[in-house]
Amino acid sequence: MQSIAILCSGGDVSSMNAAIKHFVEYSFENSLTPYFVYDGYEGLIDNNIKKASYSDVSGIINRGGTMLRSSRSSRFMKYSYRIIAVDNLKKLGIDMLIILGGDGSFRGMHKLSKEFDIKVCGVPSTIDNDIALSDYSLGVDTSLNVIKNAIDSIRDTASSFKRAFVIETMGRDCGFLALVSSLTSGAEMLLIPEVEYDLDKYKHRFKQQVSNGRNYFIAVVSEGIKDDAQSISKWFEEEIGIESRATILGHIQRGSNPSVYDRLMAYKFINHAVDALLDNKKSSVVCHSDSNFKLENIDDVVGTKKELDCSLLKLAKSML
Ligand code: ADP
Repeated sequence: MQSIAILCSGGDVSSMNAAIKHFVEYSFENSLTPYFVYDGYEGLIDNNIKKASYSDVSGIINRGGTMLRSSRSSRFMKYSYRIIAVDNLKKLGIDMLIILGGDGSFRGMHKLSKEFDIKVCGVPSTIDNDIALSDYSLGVDTSLNVIKNAIDSIRDTASSFKRAFVIETMGRDCGFLALVSSLTSGAEMLLIPEVEYDLDKYKHRFKQQVSNGRNYFIAVVSEGIKDDAQSISKWFEEEIGIESRATILGHIQRGSNPSVYDRLMAYKFINHAVDALLDNKKSSVVCHSDSNFKLENIDDVVGTKKELDCSLLKLAKSML
């Protein structure tokens, strides 16, 4: 029987557990022996690899995070440790590996596929949604819903006082979470790293709105902008003359019970990944764009810069 392994690397996302559960089920369905690699690339180096069974994955579908745990591994950046990692897989007769991770994890996977004779397949899993050639990554939908709920709650208090709320979302250099959240929360201001901004541009409009009776503002800012949420909040106080508070949503954006969409997509991503490996694809990433799944080569995925969706940017024009 052929053997196949799965690991989670980098930032965890909600619905990784759904993917892990279905990995076990779909492997057995295809007469494969499934293995778990615990603790991401660190576990690969330390041989923390165990045979998986149905009982391991019962009752996990509704849990955020990952039962396999994840890691950031500086050792994996070195070739000498990657040899050990691949050796551990080979000793167990595993020559197929699925990696759930983000941009950094895929760079590690790219190295593995270039340096060794092992079949790897990536499943985009990052709330930053910054994987090129894929419109969507696992966990994004749940994260957007967590942000939506948080901003809805903030709006309740914002409307009770005369205040501006500046809400910072995650996303590193990618403003996707902020862009979608500003739209779905009806914000007045959106600041993202991809679009240059000049605060003076908002000043006249916002002041006029306050004099016309506007009571509160919601500004959504991405963590990658040149200012931080606190300084934007200060700008509201000093330049617009309205009391202001900054809220940094932080790690709550990763957690929570996975959404229906993320769970379903986890199942579909896993099917495509296992099928690709069985089909002898050596180094692919399962991407999802224009509502279709497509296998992309890892060279193209890591070598391409992700652009924000123009149609979303157009929708958000009045806030930018
Ligand atoms: P994410 O996958 O969420 O973007 P990171 O950027 O932290 O998370 O990357 C996860 C891990 O991937 C790193 O800790 C490291 O072990 C591995 N990695 C990242 N870049 C490289 C690289 N250029 N070469 C080898 N491994 C890498």
